[in-house]
Amino acid sequence: MNIILLGPPGAGKGTQAERLEKTHHMIQLSTGDMLRAAVAAGSEIGLKAKAVMEAGELVSDDIMIGIIADRIMQPDCAAGFILDGFPRTTDQAAALDDIMADKQLKLDAVVEMTVDDEALTERITGRFACAKCGAGYHDRFKQPKTPDTCDACGSSEFTRRDDDNAETVKARLAAYHGSTAQIIPYYREKGILRSVDGMAAIDDVTREIEQVLETLQ
Ligand code: ADP
Ligand code: AMP
Repeated sequence: MNIILLGPPGAGKGTQAERLEKTHHMIQLSTGDMLRAAVAAGSEIGLKAKAVMEAGELVSDDIMIGIIADRIMQPDCAAGFILDGFPRTTDQAAALDDIMADKQLKLDAVVEMTVDDEALTERITGRFACAKCGAGYHDRFKQPKTPDTCDACGSSEFTRRDDDNAETVKARLAAYHGSTAQIIPYYREKGILRSVDGMAAIDDVTREIEQVLETLQ
């Protein structure tokens, strides 16, 4: 099964993908994670993307389509993947169709997660992650069970993203409403768009997504 988790920054895509990876053995393909790794490695793509990401704007379609075309060809994607953060423009959505058709892959569903802008700002500014394994947390909504200790790997080191600040959030939400939201009708017309209430508690959102996936099997 291959799906897209579609929603604004902070909607809960990464949180839900982390769970689906465990329960459905699908691979999370987060373009934001890929770009952050490229920035950390100082690669050519990382150097091009760094300032754009810091400004909360969108990295060019050419770069993003190239990254995803390469990643989908890797053998671990054959078990099924969850796209998180891609596509973000109509050109990326059209390119994804071409890439998947070329590889005879099917896009089973696009799961749209709807969340109010006000809640998104609170979610993004309170987000942190384990520096060792990447497990995601929130100051208020998802604290580690034992304070300062990652539930998943026991590490006591945590990080916050440079772009998770109130100023950059405004630009990221503008990019979502200005570009990314335009791909929703594209998938609705194809008949594969499903919407879940991303304002609900984390477990309830998981249940709703599970219900969507059951209809696809
Ligand atoms: P995205 O990947 O869509 O940018 P994340 O999954 O990283 O979003 O979630 C953003 C922040 O909000 C994280 O700190 C996460 O723990 C928290 N979060 C995710 N889903 C919910 C939810 N349904 N209710 C409250 N907080 C949530
Ligand atoms: P995310 O981790 O999904 O919040 O993405 C972090 C940042 O990476 C975004 O604000 C963009 O600058 C960039 N980015 C990630 N995915 C894409 C994409 N598909 N298209 C353009 N820019 C992207």
